[in-house]
Amino acid sequence: MDSISQHPRTTIASVTLATKLALQNAGIHEAPLEAEVLTRHVTGIDRAVFYAHPDRIISDHENQQLAILVSRRCQHEPLPYLLGRWEFYGLDFIVNPSVLIPRPETEILVEQALLFAQSSATKKLGLPATTEGAHQFRILDVGTGSGCIAIALAKHLPQASIIATDISSEALVVSSQNVEEHNLQNQVRLIECDLITTRSGIFDLIVSNPPYIPDAEVPSLQQEVSHYEPIIALDGGSGGLGIIKRLLKQAVNHTAPDGAIMVEFNPPQRTALISIAHSILPDATCKVIKDLAGLDRLLVIELEKQPIE
Ligand code: GLN
Repeated sequence: MDSISQHPRTTIASVTLATKLALQNAGIHEAPLEAEVLTRHVTGIDRAVFYAHPDRIISDHENQQLAILVSRRCQHEPLPYLLGRWEFYGLDFIVNPSVLIPRPETEILVEQALLFAQSSATKKLGLPATTEGAHQFRILDVGTGSGCIAIALAKHLPQASIIATDISSEALVVSSQNVEEHNLQNQVRLIECDLITTRSGIFDLIVSNPPYIPDAEVPSLQQEVSHYEPIIALDGGSGGLGIIKRLLKQAVNHTAPDGAIMVEFNPPQRTALISIAHSILPDATCKVIKDLAGLDRLLVIELEKQPIE
């Protein structure tokens, strides 16, 4: 008998099944999908090959790699950190525990920002290049983390110039890798600072997904979030609104008269947040956009007074 035939045949199908069962036992909700993703990750095969060749043999090395990832996932370490990459707005980003994992609800911030940039460009269409307002569209992303918002905006607004800030130097290492991977060094500038630096300038649009979870609620978040994601990106202090309030107060002095500010927030804080926004920007127009789950998620503040119809 040769040595190979003594080993059970370890195929893609058999390890995927074993992985699925292990994840299910650990209480991972999306076990079948995650088992496929992890198996494909260690073997480097795409979906088509995965389904076309379930009998492909998996090597001992691949199997060991998979075992390590499965045991980490069973401890509830988030899948994106295990893969080292995650998708946001159709783009691929490097992620690690120094940055918040990009979430689908934040995509509506990008959508609204693009709509605003578009309507702003339409209004300025036809203005001679020398006219105030006919400049490059200027965006500030406060608390950029992985850089996913700034980079998604840069990709869709090639004419915009973007500054992205973060207080965490570890986060800025990740965002700068992402800026480089997407080849946007000329369009996105990263600055290490707390919220907005006084020297940041004036912007047509300020966007932010700041920390907004009330501190008392952080420990009760999903284990994946509370144990693994950077607390500095989540914890909004007592009540959860302190950082957004400070951000809005600073943003007033850095937003163009016809500009906008867009901030993601915690759904239960809608009323409190709108009253804070009105007290800081009494003349601005506030609207709230819901996320895909139907929850109030994004505050859009347009500074220019809307004409009365
Ligand atoms: N949406 C995130 C969560 O609920 C929080 C993100 C944030 O604080 N900016 O886990």
